[in-house]
Amino acid sequence: MTAREEVDSLYRELYRLSRITARSFPFFYSKELHERIKKVAGKLLEKARNAEIPEEMLENLRETVSIFLNILDRMKAGKLDLFSQLSVYGLGEEIFSDMKRFAEERDFQETLKDFHEICDIFFDEPVTESELESVKKVAMEFLPKIYERFFSELFSDLNEYLKTVNFSVLEEHGHQTGKVYFSLKNFNVLCFVDNEVKRRPARISILKKILHECGHQLNFFLTTRSELPVFMKKPLFATGFVGQELIACAFERFWPEFESDEEESRYLEIHSRIHGLKVFLKAYPVYLYYTQGPEEASRYLYNYTGNRYYLGKEFRNWLEFTCRWKLSEHSNLDWWTDSLVRFWITIKSEEIPLGNLKKLCRGIWAPKTFMKISGCSKAD
Ligand SMILES: [Zn+2]
Repeated sequence: MTAREEVDSLYRELYRLSRITARSFPFFYSKELHERIKKVAGKLLEKARNAEIPEEMLENLRETVSIFLNILDRMKAGKLDLFSQLSVYGLGEEIFSDMKRFAEERDFQETLKDFHEICDIFFDEPVTESELESVKKVAMEFLPKIYERFFSELFSDLNEYLKTVNFSVLEEHGHQTGKVYFSLKNFNVLCFVDNEVKRRPARISILKKILHECGHQLNFFLTTRSELPVFMKKPLFATGFVGQELIACAFERFWPEFESDEEESRYLEIHSRIHGLKVFLKAYPVYLYYTQGPEEASRYLYNYTGNRYYLGKEFRNWLEFTCRWKLSEHSNLDWWTDSLVRFWITIKSEEIPLGNLKKLCRGIWAPKTFMKISGCSKAD
């Protein structure tokens, strides 16, 4: 066996053990399994050093393994809270400081004012047969352009590529083993409520959703068709989730190459800002509440949102909710972690210089190595 083959085979073994661990996370801890994993991981890292693997991939391997070992330590300690959940994604408290920076770069009152201004334009789903047809027509118009831009090197012709695209009226948009699925129901129409109600396909929004899934698709094809080591193709736990989503979200930013509509892009921009601030206002004070106490949480919220919000019903509801909420017991912990992580991914994908995206598309990267290669964060 060559050194590379040995690395691949040790990683496959670690992957198998991670599947067993993931199935029992966070309920069952086995000392024996833990010991076995540590042994395989140690051997793997040692072999990898002598296998002529590029340094950044080695770094990716070290990060992936260390996230996995960290999860085992948390299982051993018997702790389940938001931070253990975040560690499954390879993330930690930095998620909160990034959210804080995002929010503080935006003025809360200004954003509210903008939002009220666009309130008579809103998103909705297609509801009639002819609306479903019209959103599909828009999607079909974008697909050849996207093929030309990203897939023509991978597929010899458009028809071959279109076999990887499926439309339905049910389900979510998604990607699986090279195929993308679009739900016509989950595309948007824009509704202008002025003196009369006008509905039309939300072209930029449809385009962004297509680009997102195409980002996943491209990442999949470039990875599986490559000669990369197995550890660059199969993530342990959810360690690859963040990197994969960051790529897909970064792809959404290509939309101006294909479409321009000032009104809709302004609407989308304000809408995503207000959505971001809403997630922030729920998550950040909870974080402060648990790390620095209720006074600090209140003080922060007061300073950030201003007097009116502080005295308003939403704040009182939030306070009541937070007081009753325990990070360690909350039954929606999975959902809560997932939405925090997704929001963080949206923020961070904005910072990735697109020039570095090509490199990251080949392989599945753990969060910190991804960030370092992407050029949007300092190495730590
Ligand atoms: Zn995605």
